[in-house]
Order: sequence, then C-alpha cells, then structure tokens
Amino acid sequence: MQLNNPALLQHQSFIDGQWCDASNGEVFAVKNPATGDVIAEVADLGADETTRAIAAAEAARADWSAYTGKERSALLRRWFDLIIEAQDDLAVLMTSEQGKPVNEARGEVLYGASFVEWFAEEAKRVYGDIIPPHGRDKRLLVLKQPIGVAAAITPWNFPIAMITRKVAPALAAGCPVVIKPSELTPLSALALAQLAQEAGFPQGVFNVVTSTNAPAVGKVLCADSRVRKLSFTGSTPVGKLLAEQCASNVKKVSLELGGNAPFIVFDDADLDAAISGVIASKFRNAGQTCVCTNRIFVHEAVYDAFAEKLKTAVHALAVGNGFDEGVAIGPLIDDRALHKVESLVKDALDNGATLLSGGERFESVTNGYRPTILSNVDNAMRIAQEEIFGPVATLIPFTEEADVVQMANDTPFGLAAYFYSRDIGRVWRVSEALEYGMVGINEGIISTEVAPFGGIKESGLGREGSKYGIDDYVEIKYLCMGVN
Ligand code: NAD
Repeated sequence: MQLNNPALLQHQSFIDGQWCDASNGEVFAVKNPATGDVIAEVADLGADETTRAIAAAEAARADWSAYTGKERSALLRRWFDLIIEAQDDLAVLMTSEQGKPVNEARGEVLYGASFVEWFAEEAKRVYGDIIPPHGRDKRLLVLKQPIGVAAAITPWNFPIAMITRKVAPALAAGCPVVIKPSELTPLSALALAQLAQEAGFPQGVFNVVTSTNAPAVGKVLCADSRVRKLSFTGSTPVGKLLAEQCASNVKKVSLELGGNAPFIVFDDADLDAAISGVIASKFRNAGQTCVCTNRIFVHEAVYDAFAEKLKTAVHALAVGNGFDEGVAIGPLIDDRALHKVESLVKDALDNGATLLSGGERFESVTNGYRPTILSNVDNAMRIAQEEIFGPVATLIPFTEEADVVQMANDTPFGLAAYFYSRDIGRVWRVSEALEYGMVGINEGIISTEVAPFGGIKESGLGREGSKYGIDDYVEIKYLCMGVN
C-alpha cells in the first residue's frame, strides 16, 4: 500500500496518548476483501486493555470538560483540516481494507470529515436555558453538561464516517471517547487516531481499542459505570444485546441499527429520476449500507417500463477491484456476506421470483457478486423481510397507495424510506404514513451532516448529525434558585 504519509498506517491501538500492543502480544490480520491478501497485522486487545482505556478517558474527563467550547472547537477544526489534507491516503487505506471503489472511499472521507467540521461549530453553541419561574421568589436555569466518558462501537461498512458521526459530537460536548472499530476495518480508525494526535487532543481524550474479541470488549464498555454513554452502529441483534448489557447501570444508549428501506415508484413518478435514485440508494457500496433500498415497489402501470430502464442502468455498472478506473461495484466484505446474498437470491427464485439480470458471482475479485435484479418478488419472501446487504434489486408490483404503504411499513425496521411521486397531496400523505426515521422524496441520497440521521422501531434510538446530534452527549441539569 503506497501512502504519501506512512504514519497513517498504524498497527497498534491508541490508549492514553500512546500507541500500544496487546499485553499478551496477540495480533490479528486485516485482509483486502478484493484479493484476500493480508495487508496488515493489528494489535488484538482484550478486556484488561479496554479497562485501561476507560481509566485513561476518565482521568482526562474533568480537564476536557473544563475546556471552553471555543477551545474544543479549535481542536476539532484542526482535526478536520488534517483529515481533508490526508483524504487521498485515507481513501487508499479504506479501499484496501473495505473494498469500496476508491472514489466512493474519498466521498466517505469527505462525508466523515463533514461531521467534524459541523460539530467544531456546534461545540460553541451548547446553550442552556432560562425558564420563566413558577414563583416570584425563584429563578430557574437549565445547564447542559457533558455526560462523561463515551464509548463508540462501529461497523465496517463506513469505517470513517461511523466513527466521526459519534466522536465529533462527543468531543464537542466535552466527553472523552473510547472507540472499538470493526475488526474488519481497524486501519481507518487508527489513521483517524494518528490525525487526532497530530491535531493535539489532550492525552486520554481519544482512545482506540482494536480487537477481534468484540463480545469481551463490549461487555467491559457496557459494565463499567465510568462509561456514561454507549453509541453503537451495527446489526440489530448486537444492538439489542448491548442495550441489555447497558441496562445494568442505566447507561445512556444510542443505537443505529439495520434497515429494510422501501423505495416506492408511483405511476406519476419521473421514471428517469427514480432510476437515478434507485441506483444511488441500492448499489452504493455494493449494497452494503444501512439506508440501502431493500425493496422496490413499482406501480403496475409503470412496472415494465421501470424494469427495462433499470436493466439498462444496471448493465452500465462496472464491476471489479475498487482501485480500477471506473469500477462502481467492488467486492462484498467477506465470504459470509457473499453466501448470505446467494442464499437470499436462491430462496426468492425458488419461491417464484424471476431473474432479470445478474444473479451470479464475478471472478475478478474475491467475494464479487454481480448487480442483480429480481422481478415479481413478494413482500413476504425472506429477501424482502431481511436486510440483503448486497447489490440485489427486488421489484414488487402494486396498484393501490394504501396497500403499498401497508407493505412498506410491514417490517420491524424503520430507518430510511424513499418514494417518487409528483402529486403534492400524495407526497404529504405518504411522507406522514411511512413509519421511518428518514424519508427521501424524489431523492435517493439523504445522508448529510446538517440533518438528523437515525431510525425508529428496531432500527434504533437517537439521532446523529445536525443540531440534535450533540444532545446524546449532554445531560440536562436544572437549577432552582431562591432569590429572597
Ligand atoms: P455487527 O453488529 O456485526 O458489528 C458492528 C460492531 O459491533 C463491530 O465493531 C463488531 O465488532 C461489534 N460487535 C459484534 N458483536 C459484538 C458484541 N457481542 N458486543 C460488542 N460489540 C460487538 O455489524 P456489521 O456487520 O459490522 O455492520 C453491518 C450492520 O450495521 C448492518 O445491519 C447495517 O444496517 C448496520 N448499520 C447501521 C447504520 C445506521 O446508521 N443505522 C449504519 C451502518 C451500518
């Protein structure tokens, strides 16, 4: 791997301002999903080192929370500038360990950096309140204070943005952090730590624990009462487990979990716009995003025309290694992901779906799966009820608005939904009826640092980004003052 700044390729964890190995010397291999090659060996920490990271964060807490908003803002801004300067290296690191096309990786670096820039500004605006009192002899005030040490457990599909979306508001609010990145993509997290160190965050404020023993590290982060906040992004079953574990000491929890996004194309939709939207929301990151379209409901009056246009658009998506020019679809993260996609496609075909395109592996990379379209899918099939997390578009016909809304909501998930219509009455009705935390209307890309990201139902708790994102890292304290 060729980096302009070799210091960005770190192999050790980062605790209390020091790079460190596992106490037993264990390491684990990080592989390039496109080739299977080992690209690095990284320190494999456990429960004891996690406790040490928590202790370091706790020791830094009082001083960090006493920094003014402006002082914290300046450090975040410096970190942002360094991430922007290092964007090419960070994109190379990310494509090497995660597989997404390198242009997409650069896009994620910029998206991830945008949270650092945003919360550098928000750090200066954590306002309290003065409440008109209930008695003449009283004065009522509200303070917002940092919650304390915050832990972040993050997934592999957005190795940088899922970290900055949590860490930037935590640091802005005055909370030191302990990060446990995915064992599949630790290098991006360690590069962020290197840049945070260069930015000058005080010792103990920024800690990264790399580990293949996620359950052990997770248990410590949940059980240690010095950690006052856990923010998790990942699968729903792990999120439920962590919420249970955090209940023992009533830790504040944010969960960004799985999704099952419907994408509804009404008969009055601009079909070409809907095709662009579906390509972006379905095939980005080879279908491995939590807000990825999972089910495409198409009105029967435009079903055939939409399917034809989608076929043409999907055939234009080049597959291959994310470092190759023009590639739009890289490898899936590992063979487990590949087998899951294959099994869902087989189940759908066995139950009456028809294959319009793809439906097979491609061999120029390991774990390659061709962009695929299935027609005549039923909303009850496994492929419509489970999160596919792969480049498979499933077309489901409908006729009535009420029926499609009911089908769209017929899932335990509630993260993102999309629909295309040019009827203003329908736009309001459907927007309000969809049981989702985020709705794209005539738009397939909805994520931005300026708007609240998050789900309802089993897709999660809490919101990231926007003016609301800092709320998860502060406690509200009410002061009641007698003035006689
Ligand atoms: P995952 O749940 O397997 O892993 C996520 C993180 O949790 C990793 O760091 C992993 O090591 C850790 N982990 C696993 N088991 C643990 C345990 N018992 N205790 C503590 N930590 C544990 O998820 P994944 O496969 O890495 O990511 C894909 C999932 O993440 C998908 O379901 C996707 O929808 C979801 N996701 C959600 C959002 C969102 O914002 N809602 C964003 C990205 C991904």
